[in-house]
Amino acid sequence: MFFGSLTVFATYNYSVKQFSKEKEDRAMLVVSHGVEVLNEVLTQSRRMVQIVAKDRTVYDLVTTKSKKQTAETILELNNFNLDNRYSAIYIIGIDGIVLASTDASFMNQDYGFREYFIRAKAGELYSDVNLGVTSKKLGYYFAYPILDKKSEVVGVAVLKMNDGVVGEIIKNTFKTPLTDLMLTDRNGIVVNGNKIERLYQSLGKLNQNELGKIEDEKKYVGIEIKPLQYDSILKLIRNKLTSLQIVDVFDQKSNDRKKIIVSPVSGVDFYLVGEISVSEVVSQAQSISKIIALMVTVAVLMAMIYVVLLSTSLLKPLSSLSTMARNISLGKFGQTNPVLGGGELAILGQTMETMANELGEKYVDLEKLVAERTTEIESQKEFLEKSKVAMMNVLEDVNLAKTDLEKFKLAVEEASDHIVITDSEGMVLYANRAVEKITGYSQVEVIGNKAGNKGGWGGLMEKSFYKKLWKTIKIDKKVFTGEINNLRKNGEKYIAIASISPILGQNGEVMFFVAIERDVTHEKEVDRMKTDFISLASHQLRTPLSAMRWFAEMLLAGDAGKLSKEQTEFVKNIEQANAKMIVLVNSLLNISRIESGRIVVDPVPTDLKELVLGELKGIEKNIKDKKQTALVSVDRNLPKVNVDPKLIAEVYKNLLTNANKYSPDGGEIEIFISHKDGELISRVSDNGIGIPKVSQDKVFERFYRAPNVLKMETEGTGLGLYLAKAIVESSGGRIWFESEVGKGTTFWFTLPLSGMKKKKGEVTING
Ligand code: ADP
Repeated sequence: MFFGSLTVFATYNYSVKQFSKEKEDRAMLVVSHGVEVLNEVLTQSRRMVQIVAKDRTVYDLVTTKSKKQTAETILELNNFNLDNRYSAIYIIGIDGIVLASTDASFMNQDYGFREYFIRAKAGELYSDVNLGVTSKKLGYYFAYPILDKKSEVVGVAVLKMNDGVVGEIIKNTFKTPLTDLMLTDRNGIVVNGNKIERLYQSLGKLNQNELGKIEDEKKYVGIEIKPLQYDSILKLIRNKLTSLQIVDVFDQKSNDRKKIIVSPVSGVDFYLVGEISVSEVVSQAQSISKIIALMVTVAVLMAMIYVVLLSTSLLKPLSSLSTMARNISLGKFGQTNPVLGGGELAILGQTMETMANELGEKYVDLEKLVAERTTEIESQKEFLEKSKVAMMNVLEDVNLAKTDLEKFKLAVEEASDHIVITDSEGMVLYANRAVEKITGYSQVEVIGNKAGNKGGWGGLMEKSFYKKLWKTIKIDKKVFTGEINNLRKNGEKYIAIASISPILGQNGEVMFFVAIERDVTHEKEVDRMKTDFISLASHQLRTPLSAMRWFAEMLLAGDAGKLSKEQTEFVKNIEQANAKMIVLVNSLLNISRIESGRIVVDPVPTDLKELVLGELKGIEKNIKDKKQTALVSVDRNLPKVNVDPKLIAEVYKNLLTNANKYSPDGGEIEIFISHKDGELISRVSDNGIGIPKVSQDKVFERFYRAPNVLKMETEGTGLGLYLAKAIVESSGGRIWFESEVGKGTTFWFTLPLSGMKKKKGEVTING
């Protein structure tokens, strides 16, 4: 109902508006059409007057003013007015007197006062409307100058159009919805229209100036010009409006709202004014709209009735449909009620039935599908269960890892080695329990203090040693491994083998240091005791061995009587075995002396070349026996070096002896001594049997002999290189080699060019 009323109301309003608008548009169309027709007629006259003014006869008349010419001209002028459109066509001389006219009453009249004459004389094409002085009829005048050969105005041609022509146009133009139609002159004075009483009235109030001018022009002689109520339109005319306009005006006289349409008639300064009454239009519109509204109301009501009727007739089949739908929703696809009756609903019912049957089939399929999915889900559930178990295992692993970590922590904590973690500045962050056992300082005392400082366990470190250690771990960022002499809290000295590793961050910066120290004091002590024992034993063995040598020599010399050949042979064997033992014992003794640190180091400026040559001399016989060559070259700029000649000679002797022993007959031995970067470098090379790869990292060990030399059954103890290494390293140098089986071996050893440090010691080495 509400929407129905709303529709009716909206329709009513809309149609009123539309209707008014349409009326307005139509009125404008009517006016502009009238203007068009007027225009055409007036334009034709404007053209005509020009033709007349340019006529040869007319020209002759104006220039000669002869009577004969007058008669000819009148004839000619009549020819221009064959359709009788003009009430008069006449020619005025330059003095304003009519020279020839189709209307005889105009002849010799003076029209010099007429605006059209004045304007045309001035050279203008002029149109005007005036009330005829003699005829008392309105005339539309068209004037055009007549020019001589020098283009000077010599007269004026005038057409006076019948008022009836314009009147006819106005009459034809005055149509609905216009309530009034007026034609005004340029001053806004009504010259034609549907209401006779408005003739010669001005649209609005004219001022004195305007009225005076009209008077002067004698346009409407003897007529009192009264104003109408359209001041606003007059204003537009005064301002020379150029196109059609529509203006709202309240007409106080009729107490009505009006719409005024005003349009200029081009070229002639006339205005066509149409009028419509708004209230009339609105009331018309309202009455029509009322009918429309009524129709709409009826239509709405009918629609509603139809809907009600339709709904009741639909209800029954609909309820069937609804039961069917409910059954379907409950999954009862087979139980459908047929929808009775005909039409779309019955078709819908049948369609639904078919659909229900199809659904029933689909439902079965669906159930199958559901069953399949259920199995699938079951298996997924199983998978999830397994995943859960796996997760639990992972968690267990994590727990285990946690336990592992704890174990690991415990292991570190309980390790017998002293483990310390410091920051990059050596400040202790962690220390295990062994720290206390080894250093005597508690974990609490150690953590937060600098590792190995004077107040702690590192007090015995020499400054230079400490510097070297710090450079290795902090600047070179390498692992430092070495023996450190430390001090326990109770003042006891101890020796530790330390390994300090820098732990680097992502950008290679030192973050921590991990130091592992092992107290080797006891091992060292045992080692020392062993060395002492060997030292003592070898020392003790030397005397009997020497005695044996003497006695053997005496026997061989026959000091105890001449020996038989066989006896001589035996004694010689004893002597050789004895000699070997002496070498062995000497080696052992030397080693024990070096290791014990009790050996005297007595450096003197030494010419190394001489030293080497001396050692070569010692084995000259062996070299000659094997027809080998030995080449010694020494850097010419090599200065004398401050070394203990006894010790260094021992090194050369071992290397040269080996080169001789392990090179074949005719082999070449080369000795080269030079210096570089503050180091003295000695090189001893041979082209002998070489050292097998497997033996290469063992040759410096005590008693080690490579398998290839054992096969050769050359003499040796496996102690030579061990001793050489001990001497070189205790002198601050390094020893190494390169070797290839079958090609030869090269040994290098260095010593600081600055020489060896003097050491008092207790024993010297045995040569
Ligand atoms: P040895 O008394 O056996 O010569 P060393 O300690 O002097 O003992 O040498 C140890 C071992 O190193 C030798 O037995 C030998 O196997 C190997 N060796 C040393 N020098 C050479 C060399 N110049 N050529 C080949 N093998 C060598």
